[in-house]
Amino acid sequence: MMKNVPINSFTKDELNKYILDLGEKNYRAKQVWKWLYVNGVKSFSEMSDIGIKLREKLHSNLDHNRLDIDQHQISKDGTQKWLFKLSDDRKIETVFIPETDRGTLCISSQVGCTLSCSFCHTGTMPLVRNLSTNEIIGQILAAKDGLEDWDIKNRKITNIVFMGMGEPLYNYQEVTRAIKILLDNEGLCYSRRKITLSTSGVVPIIQKLKYELDVSLAISLHAVNDDIRNILVPINKKWPIKELLSALEIYPGVNNSRRITFEYVMLDGVNDSINDAKKLVKLLKPIHAKVNLIPFNPWPGSIYKCSSEKTIKDFADEVCYNGGITATVRHARGQDILAACGQLKSNSVRLSREKVANINFV
Ligand code: SAH
Ligand code: SF4
Repeated sequence: MMKNVPINSFTKDELNKYILDLGEKNYRAKQVWKWLYVNGVKSFSEMSDIGIKLREKLHSNLDHNRLDIDQHQISKDGTQKWLFKLSDDRKIETVFIPETDRGTLCISSQVGCTLSCSFCHTGTMPLVRNLSTNEIIGQILAAKDGLEDWDIKNRKITNIVFMGMGEPLYNYQEVTRAIKILLDNEGLCYSRRKITLSTSGVVPIIQKLKYELDVSLAISLHAVNDDIRNILVPINKKWPIKELLSALEIYPGVNNSRRITFEYVMLDGVNDSINDAKKLVKLLKPIHAKVNLIPFNPWPGSIYKCSSEKTIKDFADEVCYNGGITATVRHARGQDILAACGQLKSNSVRLSREKVANINFV
């Protein structure tokens, strides 16, 4: 049987066209859009100002389902993690990180990742596919439901970051569509500054990103010379540091208020010396940059150790006070529920292994 198209896969223009093709007026599409993205209704029947005939038509032709929650955990520090089961039984994770002045939702763009960065657990996952627009938007809608976050004047999710599982620029088409939905000011209404796309450095796509999406950009740099970056972030063999940074130097519209974030994972004895910090400053000088140091989060089987607190502080001071580039240290959040950077999916992989073990046993 043919599956219905999910309504959350439509951009606003597509929904408009769909409704017009049903012989309805333009304003109906606006009403439906508002129900979906301002009121957050979970069924067509709740769309009370839409005629019953149209509601029935939509109901029989389109899917309007939330993602299936397989697991939901809350850390002692308030971080929340959802494990969603997709229609093909694959699983993705989404994390909410509350802070005093904001709430950040970290979303996935792929199931697993093809890029195998040697310090990232997601990169070791064998199963990979791109998420659809509906699955990307679905993570936000489900988190908004869970957090009761449908009051636009009092938002809990203020920022959205593509820093979950996957390389968003390898799923550019669906990620672009989802971002267009997020940005729509008659719907979810997130501003470009509040959406951050983190990439390991897919240079040709970075070059068109600015013109097409213009959201905030984070680059997973992690090393200051190609030999080490080739090992940590193997995509570097294709687009080495110099090429990556040249693309960013000319990245338009970047200024002091809107700098590019460079993520730098702190790995003991690998990339964390004072000389590395000095070289980092030199490399980033031509760019409006800020640095975000990420203490390495271990996962079962990982071969690296996190740098000591003192090393991280010295590194940050070198970049910041001597180098003049803003450097922040990202505090690990939700470690007790394996929700910190690079730990995503480990829990579910472990759970599925247990399941397999049980099946064999029985
Ligand atoms: N694929 C994209 C976005 C997802 S990863 C990218 O690589 O940018 C989000 C950030 O977490 C990246 O900077 C990534 O390098 C970092 N990360 C991955 N594994 C980590 C780990 N074990 N500890 C700390 N940071 C990690
Ligand atoms: Fe993929 Fe990013 Fe992990 Fe590298 S760090 S394997 S690009 S998710």
